[in-house]
Amino acid sequence: MAVPVTGRLLLVAAALLGCGVSAAAIIDRLPTRERVVALTFDACEGPTPATLDTELVGILRSEGVPYTVFMGGRFARDNARAVADLARDPRIEIENHSYSHPQDMRRLGDEQVRAEVLRAAETIRATTGRTTRFFRFPAGRADERVVSVVESLGYRVVHWRFPSGDPDPKLPADAILADTLERVRGGDILIFHINGRGVHTAAVLPRLLAELRRRGYGFVRLDALLGP
Ligand SMILES: [Zn+2]
Repeated sequence: MAVPVTGRLLLVAAALLGCGVSAAAIIDRLPTRERVVALTFDACEGPTPATLDTELVGILRSEGVPYTVFMGGRFARDNARAVADLARDPRIEIENHSYSHPQDMRRLGDEQVRAEVLRAAETIRATTGRTTRFFRFPAGRADERVVSVVESLGYRVVHWRFPSGDPDPKLPADAILADTLERVRGGDILIFHINGRGVHTAAVLPRLLAELRRRGYGFVRLDALLGP
């Protein structure tokens, strides 16, 4: 997997080019040192059909936590009824994860990048009534050019500081839990999957939330700390 370029590196590159702080930047953590984390879940769908992990949705509902779903446009199209139900819960933020989940959007031309973002936004709006404002690149594969294209559409790019690794079937729940609890810091954006690709996610979440609460952490949506 390609290593995503961090926001800091891009800002340094932008400063060297004399572009100032308004240049392309990937957000990989929330701007706070408070004990809060954002729970984010990708709902990707590439060429293979995917469905909403209703067990996980039920767990998150009973935990009563706010969270963010980065939704693919094709996923929204193929799961229209399920995502419309999801959008009825005001605690859930729904954001943009491209239309067809290309493996590497760096290989797309500017116009194709724009089309992926806008077609996803349109499908998500049609199925959920929600307007998206944050974008996450498939597999976090991005460079300054594609980030700039996405930003020119009014989006901010939101990734993560470290991945949970939950799509890896060889990674047991205990390992995901231990690694996340070892690495987590205030302001982190945690990434899991809610499209059936998160093999042990439903087993991890209740234990993770209990331990984070014990440590004094709260849970926020992206829009709470990244502005409107
Ligand atoms: Zn994805």
